Amino acid sequence: MSSCKECYSKHNRITPLNGVRECLEKHEQYICGSCGRCICIQKEEKRGLQRWNFPFRSLEIALLYLRTADVSEGTACGIYCLTNQHGRESYKIFSSDEALTHYLQKNSSKQCANNAPVYRSTSYQTFANTQIRRLTSEEVEQYLMEIS
Ligand SMILES: [Zn+2]
Ligand SMILES: [Zn+2]
Repeated sequence: MSSCKECYSKHNRITPLNGVRECLEKHEQYICGSCGRCICIQKEEKRGLQRWNFPFRSLEIALLYLRTADVSEGTACGIYCLTNQHGRESYKIFSSDEALTHYLQKNSSKQCANNAPVYRSTSYQTFANTQIRRLTSEEVEQYLMEIS
């Protein structure tokens, strides 16, 4: 199976990963114009952070959210592998190497090998049929059926 050219996923109904119904019903979604996959792009109230701003436990999961970072930042974002003081790895998305450097300056317990992304798409593109909005209740039910 090949990855979606727009949203990087091999599976077009893999997200949301957690709290599926609640996420689809209550959160704004990036609806992939190419494969129809929904990706949570909701901003949390306090700091305006989106799911892609938080660390991921694997590169595979970070890839599922990378497209929402690209679109929010308007650039091809990178996924970086961070290591904490115990050697534990996590993956985090930044819009640029400079944004990573800025983060590492504020989080001195974290390191990034080579200060380079493990994945970044070659260029930022927009796609014709993409939508960013809440789903209708019919669309939620349809999508839930297609997930299972
Ligand atoms: Zn959500
Ligand atoms: Zn897609």
